[in-house]
Amino acid sequence: MRIPSMIQAGAAIALVMAATPAFAREELTTMQKDPNQWVMPLGNYSSTRYSELAQINTANAKDLKVAWSFSTGVLRGHEGGPLVIGNMMYVHTPFPNKVFALDLSRNGAIAWQYEPKQDNKTIAVMCCDTVNRGVAYADGKVFLHQADTTLVALDAKTGKVVWSAKNGDATKGETGTAAPTVVGNKVLIGNSGGEFGVRGMMTAYDIATGKVAWRAYSSGPDSDTLIDPVKTTSMGKAVGKDSGLAGWKGDQWKLGGGTTWGWTSYDPATNLIYYGSGNPGAWNPAQRPGNNRWSMSIWARDADTGKAKWIYQMTPHDEWDYDGVNEMILVDKAFKGKDRKLLTHFDRNGFSYTLDRVSGELLVAEKYDPAVNWATGVDLKTGLPQRVAKYSTEGNGEDVVTKDVCPAALGSKDQQPAAYSPKTGLFYIPANHVCMDYEPTKVAYVAGSPYVGANLSMYPPKGEQNLGRFVAYDAMTGKAAWEIKEPFSVWSGALATAGDVVFYGTMEGYLKAVDAKSGKELYSFKTPSGIIGNINTYTYQGKQYIAVLSGVGGWAAIGMAAGLTGDQDGLGAVGAYRGLSQYTNLGGALTVFEVPGGTAVASR
Ligand code: CA
Repeated sequence: MRIPSMIQAGAAIALVMAATPAFAREELTTMQKDPNQWVMPLGNYSSTRYSELAQINTANAKDLKVAWSFSTGVLRGHEGGPLVIGNMMYVHTPFPNKVFALDLSRNGAIAWQYEPKQDNKTIAVMCCDTVNRGVAYADGKVFLHQADTTLVALDAKTGKVVWSAKNGDATKGETGTAAPTVVGNKVLIGNSGGEFGVRGMMTAYDIATGKVAWRAYSSGPDSDTLIDPVKTTSMGKAVGKDSGLAGWKGDQWKLGGGTTWGWTSYDPATNLIYYGSGNPGAWNPAQRPGNNRWSMSIWARDADTGKAKWIYQMTPHDEWDYDGVNEMILVDKAFKGKDRKLLTHFDRNGFSYTLDRVSGELLVAEKYDPAVNWATGVDLKTGLPQRVAKYSTEGNGEDVVTKDVCPAALGSKDQQPAAYSPKTGLFYIPANHVCMDYEPTKVAYVAGSPYVGANLSMYPPKGEQNLGRFVAYDAMTGKAAWEIKEPFSVWSGALATAGDVVFYGTMEGYLKAVDAKSGKELYSFKTPSGIIGNINTYTYQGKQYIAVLSGVGGWAAIGMAAGLTGDQDGLGAVGAYRGLSQYTNLGGALTVFEVPGGTAVASR
């Protein structure tokens, strides 16, 4: 016994010596498994938004009550949700991007707050409200990506700035709305501005110093995209030299969008990160011949080097603004009798894609909204969508209105993240149910001005009234187990729990708890404003709580948030959601729920 244990001790020493750069990786990889905390925006690296907590369950969810609440003092759309680290909750706001550290041991009293100084002109270059989707935590720091693209590291105890770095230039329309993701000793952040001709990129900063470790663009030569012409694959084949140039005419790739404003997932076993790229610029497809690689794509990259392992382009040569940035949900389960490491993604284009996340093999692509009509399906051999000619906005021509395209530009689902329960095997999708008219128009590029070139109108599918759905969905078969119709888009991130309760919020402001198996409503409460935030759960002193940010706004409610009144304003969203102002009003508020009474620690 002695000799093996000495060998083990030696191995342990070697690990410790190599451990300094790996510390943060270990820290978060362990912390994300602790259901008592909520340590990253989507709950864990797999982005399942699933909690093992079960104190709140189908039997007692009806007894939920408000435990405490907090006003953020900011009026516009509150996307994302708070983190809970130990006894501290970190709450962010839209522009001006305040961060509050709320002390759970003092009923949410303010331990510190941070308010950056940012130029108000940044607001004018944010396409779809002044949203921010949350902060990241690691190594005693809170990371915030401000609207003006400044990435700051705050001391989690004091709120003092440890370092800051500029990720872009807001005067050119480059902005920050996404939440950062920490992997190992790097904090990863994308960029926003797909409606301003901004070139998308993902950048990794050293968490200790704020120095750039790597940067990978969505378009351009291999040296910029960190694509290997031989080793990087798409649909099982090497992509070839400078694939990020080959899909474009002339220099259009420089205005080619592919911005990376969504979520990033991570698989510690393969050290790969997963995220999506957005629309090619401009929205008028006639101005950018080619397949516009690699906009509208799912990316798998090595977390340490940024090198691309595989890419899958869902909507080549987009004609509808179906950004590919929605979350990548990583699940290990059997597919056709074989255990696979899977990635499931509910795209704006209305298809749910499941791929082998190691190889990038496309396994399933099915519509998750039956209204989707721009394509009949996806060819699993080529990966190409089978387009329907009459819904081609380019085919119908410039200055011609293409009618009744489903989904609308804001997609069958936008950035609002879905949840996955390993107990039911179902995904819970907060969905839009919206169609559009789309008229491409000529547009010239002027730095810092909108680079869109399209007029849109949005409305529910023909013969229907509801703009939203909440869907329990089997991604393997493409079948819905149940769905709840909602009058407006479900623009809040879902939460699934081991108590078999699933939570979501509505744009009128209702926090709803439903039975994961049947969809039966167990509880609903009208919060102070419409909910476009993401619901989370945690424990304090052994008791389970549910937290959500209210504060209506975002693209769907841009009319209310920015005071726009024309039906086609707000990239076409204002008319469809006009009725929302009869239900709710602006204003950021956090609401925390509990089931009063016994702590029931043992039932977890
Ligand atoms: Ca877009």
